[in-house]
Amino acid sequence: AKARMSVNDVTKTVCTYCGVGCSFDVVTSDRTILKVQPSYDGPANSISTCVKGKFGWDHVNASDRLTKPLVRDGRRFRETTWEEALQVIADRLGAIKDEHGPDALGVIGSSKATNEESYLTQKLARQVIGTHNVDNCSRYCQAPATQGLWRTVGYGGDSGSISDMERASLVIMVGTNTGASHPVIASRLRRAQKLNGQKHLVADLRRHDMAQRADVFLKPAPGTDLVWLSAMTKYILDEGLADDDFLKQRVNGLEEYVDSLAPYTIEHAAERTGIDAETLRGTARMIAAEEAVCAAWAMGVTQHSMGSDTSTAISNLLLVTGNYGRPGTGAYPLRGHNNVQGCSDFGTINTFYPGYQPVTDEAVADKFAAAWHIDRLPLEGGLDNHGMVDAVQEGSLKGLVVIGEEISLVDANVNYVQEALTKLDFLVVSELFFSRTCEFADVVLPAASSLEKDGTFTSTERRVQRLNEAMAPIGESRPDWLILQGIAERMGVEWGYTHPREIMSEVADLTPLFAGVTWERLEGYRSLQWPVAADGTDSPLLYEDAFHFDDGKARLHPLEFREPVNQTSEEFPLHVNNGRVLEHFHEGNMTLRSEGLSRIVPDTYVEMTPRTAAENGNLATGDWVKLISPSGEMSARILLSDEVADGEVYVPMQAGEVNRLTSNDTDPDSHTPAYKELSARVERVDGP
Ligand code: SF4
Repeated sequence: AKARMSVNDVTKTVCTYCGVGCSFDVVTSDRTILKVQPSYDGPANSISTCVKGKFGWDHVNASDRLTKPLVRDGRRFRETTWEEALQVIADRLGAIKDEHGPDALGVIGSSKATNEESYLTQKLARQVIGTHNVDNCSRYCQAPATQGLWRTVGYGGDSGSISDMERASLVIMVGTNTGASHPVIASRLRRAQKLNGQKHLVADLRRHDMAQRADVFLKPAPGTDLVWLSAMTKYILDEGLADDDFLKQRVNGLEEYVDSLAPYTIEHAAERTGIDAETLRGTARMIAAEEAVCAAWAMGVTQHSMGSDTSTAISNLLLVTGNYGRPGTGAYPLRGHNNVQGCSDFGTINTFYPGYQPVTDEAVADKFAAAWHIDRLPLEGGLDNHGMVDAVQEGSLKGLVVIGEEISLVDANVNYVQEALTKLDFLVVSELFFSRTCEFADVVLPAASSLEKDGTFTSTERRVQRLNEAMAPIGESRPDWLILQGIAERMGVEWGYTHPREIMSEVADLTPLFAGVTWERLEGYRSLQWPVAADGTDSPLLYEDAFHFDDGKARLHPLEFREPVNQTSEEFPLHVNNGRVLEHFHEGNMTLRSEGLSRIVPDTYVEMTPRTAAENGNLATGDWVKLISPSGEMSARILLSDEVADGEVYVPMQAGEVNRLTSNDTDPDSHTPAYKELSARVERVDGP
């Protein structure tokens, strides 16, 4: 055993699967991953991981990893050198820029890339190309939560730490299947429920694991969360149960907000949501009476045409009950991807430089222009992901750089997206595998995985943590920071970074939010939660003394309910919900390559109740069906289950094409697709 240990390497890394930010040692021997070993020092997870963090690493050495750059040669691709691939990219991007201007190009970043790579993604767009057309997949998921928090409390991130959630006397979970999507947070909350008597209020369409264990489970009609949240808030104010001192001292806008609540009576909410009036009143009284209430939410709230407003309604409720600024209180939009928080934080977003410094602010633009040695930067925001796809369809956007984002499967209405990709003059994709999006590319670049590079990720609790290279990049693959630097150099801009620590140091100089972040302060298992002051003091809990507005006061935000789009009809009678399962991450490009995980859940499926199955042609588990929506169709097997409600179905997104069904409808405030507002009919078919 001693001899074996002597050839093994132990490298601290951060999980690449979800926003919880579990950190652990990975034990390797050359390229063989021997085990994942969590440590008591892991700030988010201690000695826990979930099944993905523990067993989801086969993708790193998968036989179909991309190991050489590829260039299109007619209908095929041929392997090429980095030299040629980078030159083709620089020539083609340069030619489009010369002919049509910088805004004919766009860059889509990756929420799985490191913070340093996210910074360089936006630097390529802004400094080298000269456009703010840059965005990331927070547009597809949590941008509405960020809007809701910007409006009401100021910072677009979790207001405390995961450890604070454990200290809540009541956790409200809305539209989050925490047990599947953020499993280590779920286990910590289950422990608090069991050992400390913490209460759980779960509101969801599905009676999933956390719902089954909840003290109160609410099943609203699809798309009506804003109604019951606002009705409970109104009831709390009307009954004199609000935290008046907190409202007086720390919150603005009460009067206008109270006026806006007039339509949200309990009776109206009961009728519209289907939750009975007494349950609504009793739950509101429970929330008002609890000592420390926090609220967690995810895609079940945000991926709606009212995602920003429903997120705002959650924050309004917390403000009215005085639940911000103390341990156990606050808002927790649970970030889905491992670095979706950091990707936006580091400026891969069309309207902000790193640290949410607006592109419209002249002083900020001058600061970045000076640091990047260019004359000027545009003062108008660029296109977001959807704007870019629309612009391709319209013919004004000609070239795209996509860093590790499977846009042809995960964006809504992929029929529309894939059609757009065929219209591009030039597409370059950096990826681990030959993904579906690569099929549309002109150049495909082999990227290093998270175990093959240094960098930092930022988790849902605003925690910046370092990951370290456990093995060299496979074949000729490279980390994205080197890929981006290679493109910039070929386009005439020398960045000259030799290590990600130099990139982080540049970010800290330019970004007040990260002023005190240094590589050394993140050594080993050490971490920092932003904002980080220049002296290195970080912020595990926000809003203890002031909210992030000039006068330090929070803002109640009036809201008006709009009916969900794509409601059920005679032609499309089933409501379709979609999301994750515990064993897989997202579309499954990584987890489906892990043998153990894909053996447990090899495919997607359509989950429905026995009654719904009986009403739709006596379907049984295992039968093949086609789901047909107004936008498209997909096939999958049936799984009978009582977790969904009658008349509603659930389709996990791994290995499937659920986004053939979704539409172009978005939340107007964030442009996030209404993935969860979807209806379809089901037809039995013989096979896939
Ligand atoms: Fe932790 Fe999430 Fe990774 Fe599971 S997937 S180990 S909960 S970070």
